[in-house]
Parts: sequence; C-alpha cells; structure tokens
Amino acid sequence: MEVLNLINGSHGPAEGGKWLDLIDPSKGSSYGRLPRSGTADVDKAVKAASNVFDEWSSWSAEKRSACIDRLADKIQEYAEMLAEAETRDNGKPIGLASTVDIPRAEKNLRFYASAIKHFASESHYMEGVAINYTLRKPLGVVACISPWNLPLYLFTWKVAPALAAGNCVVAKPSEVTPATAFLLSKWVKEAGFPDGVFNILHGLGAEVGDALVKHPDIAAVSFTGGTATGAHIASVVAPKFKKLSLELGGKNAAIIFGDCDFDEALSTTVRSSFANQGQICLCGSRILVERSIYDKFRDALVEKAARIQVGNPLAPSTKMGAVVSEQHRDKILEHIEIAKQEGGKILCGGFATQPEGEDEFSGGYYIQPTIIEGLGTECRTNQEEIFGPVVTIQPFDSEEGAIENANSTKYGLAASIFTNDLKKAHRVAGNLETGIAWINCWLLRDLRTPFGGVKDSGVGREGGFEALHFFTEPQNVCVKL
Ligand code: NAD
Repeated sequence: MEVLNLINGSHGPAEGGKWLDLIDPSKGSSYGRLPRSGTADVDKAVKAASNVFDEWSSWSAEKRSACIDRLADKIQEYAEMLAEAETRDNGKPIGLASTVDIPRAEKNLRFYASAIKHFASESHYMEGVAINYTLRKPLGVVACISPWNLPLYLFTWKVAPALAAGNCVVAKPSEVTPATAFLLSKWVKEAGFPDGVFNILHGLGAEVGDALVKHPDIAAVSFTGGTATGAHIASVVAPKFKKLSLELGGKNAAIIFGDCDFDEALSTTVRSSFANQGQICLCGSRILVERSIYDKFRDALVEKAARIQVGNPLAPSTKMGAVVSEQHRDKILEHIEIAKQEGGKILCGGFATQPEGEDEFSGGYYIQPTIIEGLGTECRTNQEEIFGPVVTIQPFDSEEGAIENANSTKYGLAASIFTNDLKKAHRVAGNLETGIAWINCWLLRDLRTPFGGVKDSGVGREGGFEALHFFTEPQNVCVKL
C-alpha cells in the first residue's frame, strides 16, 4: 500500500519526497509506505483550507451534512475492506474491526451529519429591556490529530463535528496506523466536499504534527493521544490562544462489589481488560474487588484470561491479536518487568508470545493476557498507563477504600462499578474523579453524551453538542427593545 497525503483535493507524496515504512504488526514486516510530511506540506494544506473557508462556511448545514452523509455511505459500502485494512495496520482482531471500529466510524459521520441540523443556539430575554441571541460561528481552519489504537473510529470522531460546524480541516492520523484514513481520503471528492475543505497529512508527530499545531492560521487543535504529547501541545498552543481539546491517557479502575451479578461482572471485566489487546483508553487496568468475593473472582478471571488464544488477527475466530508495534510491545514488557521488581505476582501471562504453530507470524508483536496481584496503590504499575493486555487485581474492604484507591492516580478518564445496590452505585459514581462512570457495564456509548477525562486525562469534552460547541465560537448579539 502506498499512502498519500490529500491536499486541496489531490493526492500526493510529501514535498520533501521522504517516506516512512508501513508495518503489519501481526508479522513485524513492512507492507508499504507513507509520506513523511513536514512544514511545507502543512503550509500547503492550511493555505488550501483557508482559501475555501468562506465558501464552505457559507454553505447551509443541510448541504454540508449531505457531504458527510455521502462519506458515511462509502464507509458502509466498503466496510469489509476497511475492516481488513484496519486489522492489518493495527493488529486488532478482524471481529473487532468489523463490529466496532468501522461501524462506529460510519456512525460518527452519520451522527454529526444529523446533529448539525439540530444544533440550536441560545437566546436570553431581559424582560422588556433587550433580547440577546447567540451566534455560533465556525472557527476557520482546525487541526485534528488522532492516535493509533482506534484509528478510523477516533479520526472520524474529530473530523465529523469539525466539518459539520463549517470549519475546514487539516487532519493528521497516527503514523503508526494511517491506512484507513488514507482509504477514506479517496472518497472525499466524490462525497462532494470542495477541494481544500478536508485535507489529510501523514507523517511523524514531532515533525508534521508539530508544524501543524504551530501554524499561525490554525484556529483550534483537537488532539487525542498520550498525556505527555498533550502537555507538549498545550505548551505550544496556549500562548497563541488557540482553542484546544485534549483527550489523553487513563488508568481506569473497575470496582467490583460483593453484591454484583458475578457472571456479568466477570465477563465484562475480561472484555474491559483485554479488548483490543488492552489498547483502549477506556480499558479497566486496575481491578478492585471486594474482599468477600476476591479469591473467587480472581480465580475465575485468571481462568478466563489464560484461555484467551492469541492468534492471527485476520482469522474470524481470533479474540486477541497483536499489539500495535515493536516499540509498544517492548514498553509493555518493560512494565511487566517493573511489576515483578515491585513484588507483583504474575497470575497469568507476563510474556511475549506468537500464534500457535503459525511461523508466518513469528516476527509479530504478541503478548499473552497478563494479570498481576500483590501490588499496592502507589507503585508504578498501579500509577502509570501501560496501555496493553496487562491488569492488576487488588482487594478492598470498604466503599470508601475502593473510591480512594480508584481516585489515587493522576488520571481521571473512566471507571466501571459493579453492584446490585442502586444507592451505592450512584453514590460511588458521584464520588469518582473521572469524566465517565459506567454502572454494571463498560464501553456502552451513547454518542450524545459528553466524552472526556479530568485531571491528566484531558481538558474539554467531545461527543454530542459538546464537540459542536468546541468547533464553534459563540458571539452574543444584544438587541435593545
Ligand atoms: P501519541 O501521543 O504518541 O500520538 C497521538 C497523535 O499525536 C499521533 O497522531 C502522533 O503522530 C501525534 N503527535 C505526536 N507528537 C506530536 C507533537 N509533538 N505535535 C503534534 N502531534 C503529535 O499517542 P499514541 O501512542 O498514538 O496513542 C496512545 C495514547 O492515546 C494513550 O495514552 C491513550 O490513552 C491515548 N488515548 C486517549 C483517548 C481518549 O479519548 N482519552 C483515546 C484513545 C487513546
């Protein structure tokens, strides 16, 4: 596959002619290349986007919505091909790509194609004196930067509201997983977007990403990725007074009370621990279990985790594929070593592996699902984001203790609570320092809800009208009566 940039309606390589390797993590080998773009490409894309902004932002919401819907039609039509491309690029099981990633990418576009037609602004009446109304204006040219874990899913989650609100976009998918954004770019013209409205640049974060966020004509940056990258971007963007939305890392807790529905809590926790090889920002990496059921829950969890077969991601029966890259595999393995040094007991997994009997995959990046016991709250393993198929399990004795432990990290993205005591469930949810709390479920998503984290997990919210608020600037108009 040769990935190309989309600038001003045309596909092409990077200005400097440099390339990066496209790696299939299931085999650890290259299967193509992508442009290593830089400042010159950013300049071209931002210029094209600026030139067409007046036209695009003057289109009716209906007309913009129709373009976004037509792009969604393409995702629907080519869903199978996109799922295969996502799996090959990322290492995730094809079952996940075809039931979660790609359908959700289509839904993101459909949701904002519809939402923009229902987006109302406020008015404030001052009795007998004046009436105020709020205009919501698009910002201009905005940057959308997305990570590798849910490539097309998170890419569309940003570009859809940005475009729907009337902005022109320069988007940068992760260099680790650029394939599906490139495939999407092939349908942008056909969907009816004027040239320059939607540009996609590929390359390294520290090069093209950095040039993009620094560009003076970029009005806002919507970023999803690691907390350290988010902090760096904030330091660059804040002094320029650009709008900034940051969706960052997590170290989420799953809190399992003794009075839960045991089987449901167990199967959901297996999923929240290991789905997408644990590489979902919302995965529950710290499992806190009430002491009365601790042994039983731990043993059942270990038994289920040990039975998960790591396999060829493209095989329909595979539940667990490869982690995204060699570098990421090594980082996860390093964390497992740290856990051992900290005195953690590995209950299952703890090592790199490969699909059984399949030499073709011997160079791939696979890690056996890993559960670690015996570590305290303050250790690195329970404080740092690992972002792989590695979880810890700890007992708790009281509701207060569980909340304190859950809130003990610098992160605050999400948490899950399992209990059949309704009052307790609401009480605990309200006391958690997280942007999202699930009760008796995990990753149940309604696209209308505010999505994001607190503390070092981010600033701002995506989802629903929150994203349309982010991608517009309110102006109050006051009319004296
Ligand atoms: P990352 O921060 O390395 O990269 C994310 C994106 O930012 C990539 O496109 C990258 O090229 C770009 N980038 C890197 N350096 C940049 C710079 N200096 N300037 C501009 N852009 C730059 O993150 P990652 O490894 O791709 O993704 C994993 C992380 O993302 C995890 O921490 C995970 O928790 C987080 N994440 C968060 C959410 C959320 O919604 N909160 C969702 C998914 C992933």
